[in-house]
Amino acid sequence: MWSGGGYLEVVGGRPGGSGIISNRDFAPGDTIMRVAADLELAEPTRFSLQVGADRHIDAGEIRYLNHSCAPNAYFAASAGLLVAERAIGAGDEVSIFYPASEWDMACPFMCECGADGCVEFVGGARHLPRAALGRYRFNEHVLGLLEALDGLPAHGGRLPAGNADPAAGGDL
Ligand SMILES: [Zn+2]
Repeated sequence: MWSGGGYLEVVGGRPGGSGIISNRDFAPGDTIMRVAADLELAEPTRFSLQVGADRHIDAGEIRYLNHSCAPNAYFAASAGLLVAERAIGAGDEVSIFYPASEWDMACPFMCECGADGCVEFVGGARHLPRAALGRYRFNEHVLGLLEALDGLPAHGGRLPAGNADPAAGGDL
């Protein structure tokens, strides 16, 4: 059984699919848990977290952490920590903004988070509209890749029609 650092649990069977719920309060900046790699990967998978320009990790139940365009948590890749971005209450779902660590996701999807300024296409930072870049905190490896990109796209990249899977919206 997953401890989730003692404060998180995976819930399933909801309309939105599985997710991770906090069972205590966190203040902004609090460490929620340490994220340890079960497996190091050279390529992203549907469940991986990106920790470097070409480094990805599989970190067990963290794969159930959902994306939100108004996240309450942040995955600090180099520190290997999940930290509270906003106040999180007991019973709240914990969410992160996937492009904060992900550059080019294995399983992009159309976001239905409903947040103001929802980026809609979640495929990694390289696909974000320019206007969205200033609204989020990004990991160093993503900032490096953004800088290396010769001319940022004016608006989000798009997959060939039919390739995005809205049903994949839940899991990382
Ligand atoms: Zn969204």
